[in-house]
Amino acid sequence: MLRSFLALTGLFISSFLSAQYCSTPQEPLLERTDANKKAMVPVQRGVQKYIPVTFHLVASSAGAGRITEENILLQVASINASYADQEAKFYIDRFNYFDNDAVYNTPGSNAARTQMRLRKDNNSINVFIVNSIESTGPGTTLAYYDPQEDWLVSRKGEINGASSTLAHEVGHFFSLAHPFSGWDCNPFTLDSYTNPVDVDFTLPCEGGGGSVLIELHDRSNCLTAGDRICDTPEDYNLGLFYQNDCSENTTIMDKNGEIIKPMTNNFMSYYRECAVYAFTPTQKNLINTDFFTFQRAYIRTGVIPNTTPVVDPVAYITPINGEESNGLTNILLDWDDTPGANKYVVMYARNSSFTLNPVKEIVTASEYVITETLNENINYYWRVWPYNESMTGAGYSVTQTFKAGLGVGINEIREISGYSLSPNPVAGGVEAMLTLSSTKDFTASLEITDASGHALVTEKILIPSGYSQHPLQTTDLPAGLYFVIMHSEKGNLVERLLILD
Ligand SMILES: [Zn+2]
Repeated sequence: MLRSFLALTGLFISSFLSAQYCSTPQEPLLERTDANKKAMVPVQRGVQKYIPVTFHLVASSAGAGRITEENILLQVASINASYADQEAKFYIDRFNYFDNDAVYNTPGSNAARTQMRLRKDNNSINVFIVNSIESTGPGTTLAYYDPQEDWLVSRKGEINGASSTLAHEVGHFFSLAHPFSGWDCNPFTLDSYTNPVDVDFTLPCEGGGGSVLIELHDRSNCLTAGDRICDTPEDYNLGLFYQNDCSENTTIMDKNGEIIKPMTNNFMSYYRECAVYAFTPTQKNLINTDFFTFQRAYIRTGVIPNTTPVVDPVAYITPINGEESNGLTNILLDWDDTPGANKYVVMYARNSSFTLNPVKEIVTASEYVITETLNENINYYWRVWPYNESMTGAGYSVTQTFKAGLGVGINEIREISGYSLSPNPVAGGVEAMLTLSSTKDFTASLEITDASGHALVTEKILIPSGYSQHPLQTTDLPAGLYFVIMHSEKGNLVERLLILD
């Protein structure tokens, strides 16, 4: 079905070079819409729907051209906003990375589909993000839902925080057809039809893609015409060629001589930027009904994702404000746990626009160790984007800088915002108290060494975030000078301790 439809998309008239469209075949959706209308259970609205999505980040076989994770994070935030009034929460099941030229450039080909089937996740919506999609005509296919394979394919340029394409394709996934269904291949033009329209059916796509009953403005045939949904008004697909012209339709009449009034801001139409996009109440009910069908059981996994809001900005700890690093490698980038976040995109580079030797990682702890060797006396820039699987739109917090250096200022643990050791001097046999104020939890080893550096006492301690006290026993230590040393991955802290007779 899909391939035969794709073969027809070239029918788009060559004078409309900029036509952009979705190549989702409509007939299977119309069948699902009819089935869902019979099953529609509005009472289920109100039940939270958690919708897992596997994003396939496809690159060329050489590993080039892959969409960025940041664009997907923006997209997840955007689609959650689009579906926010439908008790629907999309979340990232996982990012799947692979490199394949066929999928990257011709995702409808047999070679590509074989590769995609191997990687399809069986418990989430699969979105393959590619470079280009086949088109046999002058128009551009932006995206489609493939009902046979039950996956979505989108050009990478459509996945971001501003495009509504994914919200549209997910509408197809949940059974919605285009409101202009039937006009897909042959939109209304004065060359193809009279005005008023004087026929009952649209022109079929050549070789497939059926003719559809033309919807009337008075809604007398809305259950069987167009998308078969009555609260989406008639739409003769003027949006295809006049995507930004929100009032193009003011003179076009249906068979009754009534001027058609399409909903130019419907998510499932082809109009662009006419108004904030919306779904109609019936479309929302159909999406909800489809989610609860047997066919969609595989995405109803029972998993409840983290939906805690992420409270940015990131509180950076070190290295910041241009300070010099302690060495050229194994440099710890450290920040406070961001409330709500359980993942972070961390990125560093040699320039503030992050184009010079950028390195990017996704980590689960609020720290990252640079393992490559940096160039001495060069300024580096780093930034962090906190998120969790469903709350993804925080963006990068403000960029930090440091200079790669051979600094040896080791008497420091950045997380320790204050400390004291008292009494000091301390009488032999009396407890000395190490009091710490820390910005996060971490473990450290605590040593007491003699003046020549021999460790006499070693213990592991957990330093909780906030204020804590750690008693030091001096009973077995003769009078003299000692060092109390705390070691952790985050640095070292050294303090002199004098024990008196
Ligand atoms: Zn579509």
